Amino acid sequence: MRLKQLGEFALIDKIQKATSTGQGVYLGIGDDAAWTRAKGNLLLTSDLLIDKVHFDRRWASFYGLGYKTLAVNLSDVAAMGGTPEYLLLSLGLPVDFKVKDIEEFYRGIGQLASQTGVSLVGGDTCASKCFFTSAFLVGHAPYGPVKRSGARVGDDLYVTGTLGDSFLGLNLLKKRKRIGTSKEVAYLTSRHLFPQARLKAGSILAKEKLAKAMIDISDGLVQDLGHLCKSSGTGAEIWQEAIPLSPPYRRLAGVNRAHYSLAGGEDYELLFSVRARDHKRLKKIQNRLGVPITHIGKCLPARHGITVTTSQGTSLSLSQMGYDHFKGLPLRRAPLNSRSIKA
Ligand code: ADP
Ligand code: MG
Repeated sequence: MRLKQLGEFALIDKIQKATSTGQGVYLGIGDDAAWTRAKGNLLLTSDLLIDKVHFDRRWASFYGLGYKTLAVNLSDVAAMGGTPEYLLLSLGLPVDFKVKDIEEFYRGIGQLASQTGVSLVGGDTCASKCFFTSAFLVGHAPYGPVKRSGARVGDDLYVTGTLGDSFLGLNLLKKRKRIGTSKEVAYLTSRHLFPQARLKAGSILAKEKLAKAMIDISDGLVQDLGHLCKSSGTGAEIWQEAIPLSPPYRRLAGVNRAHYSLAGGEDYELLFSVRARDHKRLKKIQNRLGVPITHIGKCLPARHGITVTTSQGTSLSLSQMGYDHFKGLPLRRAPLNSRSIKA
């Protein structure tokens, strides 16, 4: 069945019936506004997902799109050290859209929502030329929010997980290149299509007061490190050889190995600073974070800027790398290797 046969209100009815609400929801979908309990220190975040800008339906399933829509918002809450709670989801839909595709989309949302304790409490629905969604996620910060601005000169810089997988995965999807084993390709593409928000790590790092500044890496390590440093008033040095890379990435990234891990987008890992004196405390709790962490560099005085040091001792001075929605992606215009990255 197509959306124009079903109509807006029957669609909302369907969404309501397929949605379960959890703790703290007094009134979910169905009234003029949702009514929920609020805990102190609210966190509010929103993200747009637009067809042909953020995803490509040649390889993204509707289930996957629903999943990712929520995942990227969860990642923002994780980066504040918070706990997610309520989701509002608005949809722009072409009238000839298949109803079963929308149901799949909500199944993706619902799966991740129930895993992470999120209740879908409302949204808006409108006919539009292209498919897009806008998610608005509400959470709270029980231990106080971890801002981007809390790093100091001398802090150690860490990342969760591995970097570059998502961008390489996207390239594999685009080129449909036949390289790697099916297991390697499945790993890398799923890193792109089903990112894991590091909620547990973010929350424990906040609770233990270990992360003093934190950001999620959505636009590439160097770009997001730039945001953290700018907010904190510091510079930074990153050790290229220390950047954590997954085994499939190491095998398949080729000449782009350094570059994708520094500037490829959509890793959704956490980058955080820790005071050098807290090193031992961090070691003690690292097994509880649910994801490995790696020491990749340190904060330096702002005048130092941001540099990436290689094992040969070369310092690559980096300006903006990574994704900017209005300027585009430098990677696409000029594939670079590590030695030719310029300020
Ligand atoms: P109003 O005209 O007052 O904004 P709507 O008819 O748009 O009301 O929405 C009715 C109810 O359905 C509201 O609770 C709203 O939050 C919910 N809703 C509408 N669209 C969606 C959607 N795409 N996903 C989830 N809930 C929705
Ligand atoms: Mg409305």
